[in-house]
Amino acid sequence: MNIDDFKRPLIISGPCSAESEQQVYETCKRLKDGGRVNVLRAGIWKPRTRPNSFEGVGAVGLPWLIKAGKELDLPVITEVANALHVEEALKAGFKNLWIGARSTVNPFTVQEIADSLRGVEGLTVMIKNPINPDLALWIGAFERFKMVGQNDLHAIHRGFSLHRKTKYRNEPMWEIPLAFKNEIPEAKMICDPSHIAGNRELLKPVSQKALDLVYDGLMIESHITPDEAWSDAAQQITPETLTELVNGLTIRSVESSNEEIEENLDSMRSEVNQVDAEIIQLIATRMGIIERIGDFKKDNSITILQPERWAEIQRLQTEKGNELGLSDSFILQYLEVIHQESIRRQTKIMNEG
Ligand code: PEP
Ligand code: MN
Repeated sequence: MNIDDFKRPLIISGPCSAESEQQVYETCKRLKDGGRVNVLRAGIWKPRTRPNSFEGVGAVGLPWLIKAGKELDLPVITEVANALHVEEALKAGFKNLWIGARSTVNPFTVQEIADSLRGVEGLTVMIKNPINPDLALWIGAFERFKMVGQNDLHAIHRGFSLHRKTKYRNEPMWEIPLAFKNEIPEAKMICDPSHIAGNRELLKPVSQKALDLVYDGLMIESHITPDEAWSDAAQQITPETLTELVNGLTIRSVESSNEEIEENLDSMRSEVNQVDAEIIQLIATRMGIIERIGDFKKDNSITILQPERWAEIQRLQTEKGNELGLSDSFILQYLEVIHQESIRRQTKIMNEG
């Protein structure tokens, strides 16, 4: 499957899990009727975090999706998590495979799957981000597939699991896929709003954000009776809702062809560059003061961290931020980064000589 054959965004949809031949076919047929889906998905083997959840119908489900794809004239994709899955999926006729988040975390698994694809031609492989926020593991998985000669590789951003609870099932941490794209610009980036959101309400805002960050496509789970789905019920939507969701997305262009618009943008961008340069200058000035304080603390045997002082900085700056319309969480994240660098510099001073 060549993504360039599709008009951006590529839409991949289908159930989290294949449950029966009829459920797979009906989901796919209703997706096809909506006219917005380019690729059909279904999970055959389901790697679940906890045992006793539904772990997939297994190889018996492979021909269900292959058949639906043939009858509806759409490419199909499924997940493989070991060499045996690869063997069975290829035998059944799959040309498109994805690697799940629980596989990408394990280099042994990734290598096993990659080795089983050595020399296999005409494949597309999509690699989900690892469940933990580790960019290197994701890039490493890409490299392992490249090394066995698989070149039609796509990345799927499905969010990262955090210990603390947030409004997402898996925190998007948009900076990680953007960093991925910086390292491997030729990789096509697909967003999986279903596993990021974990619910139906957030599917649309997450999808829209991905498109505005120039993602190449979306993978969204759909089910004929979402509430009764055997896995991931809370985040699945009917094929008709999927069509409506995709129709409701605004697809903006990366570049404008209008000269006046470009000029206006350029002028606002140079204002931003100016302000960014001033911010960097101020941060350098702040670090200079921090180092003077570091010398002083060292001479007087005072600890680097003074918890009340750190609390005071956070209080003062969130108050100021609030006055200026900046959110607490943004100010606190910004201060955290500044504070870490300040501590690093003072630690260096303390350890000198
Ligand atoms: C899935 O796509 O159904 C799935 C299991 O996803 P992930 O690997 O992202 O958890
Ligand atoms: Mn799922």
